[in-house]
Amino acid sequence: MNDLDSQRLSGSLKLRGYRRVDDERKADLILLNTCSIREKAENKVYSRLGELRELKRDNVQIGVCGCVAQQEGERILARAPWVDFVMGPGNVGYLEQVLAGGKTIAIDFPEDRRYDYLTVDRPSATKAQVTIIEGCNKNCTFCIVPTTRGREVSRAFEDVLDEVRAAVASGRVEIELLGQTVNAYRCPASGRDFGALLSAVAEIEHVRRLRFMTSHPAEVNDSMIAAMRDHPNISRYLHLPVQSGSSKILRRMKRLYTREKYVEIIGRIRAAIPEIHFSTDIIVGFPGETEEDFQESLRLIEEVQYGSLFAFKYSPRPGTPAPRIGPPVDDDVATERLTRLFELHERIKQQRLQSYRGRILPVLVEGPSKHDPAMLSGRTDDNFVVNFVADPATPLGSMLGVRIDQAQHHTLRGEAVA
Ligand code: SF4
Repeated sequence: MNDLDSQRLSGSLKLRGYRRVDDERKADLILLNTCSIREKAENKVYSRLGELRELKRDNVQIGVCGCVAQQEGERILARAPWVDFVMGPGNVGYLEQVLAGGKTIAIDFPEDRRYDYLTVDRPSATKAQVTIIEGCNKNCTFCIVPTTRGREVSRAFEDVLDEVRAAVASGRVEIELLGQTVNAYRCPASGRDFGALLSAVAEIEHVRRLRFMTSHPAEVNDSMIAAMRDHPNISRYLHLPVQSGSSKILRRMKRLYTREKYVEIIGRIRAAIPEIHFSTDIIVGFPGETEEDFQESLRLIEEVQYGSLFAFKYSPRPGTPAPRIGPPVDDDVATERLTRLFELHERIKQQRLQSYRGRILPVLVEGPSKHDPAMLSGRTDDNFVVNFVADPATPLGSMLGVRIDQAQHHTLRGEAVA
C-alpha cells in the first residue's frame, strides 16, 4: 500500500510539472514515504531526516508521508524542525493543498479520500496495483495499522472496474488488488462483496493475471473461493497470513480464528482449487510465546507447505495492547526461533523449486533478465522469478509456457516452448 501511495504521490507531482531527479541534492521537494509496521523502519525515518537536514533551504521542501507521519504527527516537527509538513496516508489525494502550505500537519482521514487513478505513476509496464479498500476494522493486538490507516473504507465497485480498464488499456495485463484486509471489501453503494469484485475484474478483457493481497483468514468466504475456482486468470497463489500456529497466541493476538479454523479454511480452499499454493506471515516471539507455541508454528508450516513465508520477530508498537498481554520473549530466544523457522521454510521452498524442474509453467513476461539481458524474465503464478531463453522480440505482458531446467536459490531458469 505504501508503494502504491508513492506511485500516487509521484504521479500527482508529475502532473504539476515536477520531474524525478536521481540525486536528492538536486531536488526542491523531498518526500519520505514511511512505514511504521516495525520499530526498525520507524527508526530509519529519523536517521534519514538527520541526513537530510543539511539539504534544507528556503526553496527546498521536505515532507514526511505515510504511517510514521500519521503516528508521530507533531513530534516529527518537534524533533526535526527542518521538516515542512507531515502527511498521513489519508491525505495522499490532498498533496496539492499540503504543498501550498494549507496544512502543516495533515493526519486526518477526510470523508472523501480522493483517488485519482489516472495520475498513478506506475513503475511497471505490465502490472498495475489497484487499491480497493483502505484501513482496517480488525484490532490485532500487535498491529498499528488501524491507527495509521484508519477504519475500513471500500471504493465503489464501478470505480475499481474503471481503474482496471484504464490500466489494461495502457498495457498492464497483471492486476493486483490491494487492501489491508482486501477480502473485507464491500461496495459502499451496492454491498457487493470481494468475490463479486474478483469475478468482475477477472472478466475484464485482457486481464491475464489477477492477484490480491492481503487476505484475512476470517474474511474468506464461499463467494471468494468460487470466484477463484471459476476464473483461471486469478492466481492460484494466496497470501493468507496466519501469524502463529498456536491457538493460545492467536487468541492473544485477537486474530479471530484458531489454528484449527485456519487449517479448515486452507482445506476448503484446497478442496475447491487443488493446485493452489499458499504464502503467509508469521510473528515469532509474541509476548507469552513458549517453545511449545513456537513448535506449533513450525508444525503448521510443515502442514501447509507454504511456498513463500514472511517472518519477523515481534516488534512492540506504540499504543498497542500486545506488550501487556504476556511476558516478553528474550531477544536471543526470538532470534534463535526465527533462524529455525527460516531453516525449515528454506527446505520446503527448495523442494518446491526443485519439483518444477522439467515442468512447463505459465510465465508472464515482465522484461529482460536483470542478470543476463539476453534472457527474458517473468513470474510464475506462485510468484517465483523465472529467467528464460525466448525470442527477444516477445512482447511484454505475454503469457508463455516455459520449460524449467534449473532451480536456483530463489529463482528458476528455463526456455520458452511453443
Ligand atoms: S487484520 Fe492486518 S492490518 Fe488489520 S489489525 Fe490485524 S494485522 Fe493489522
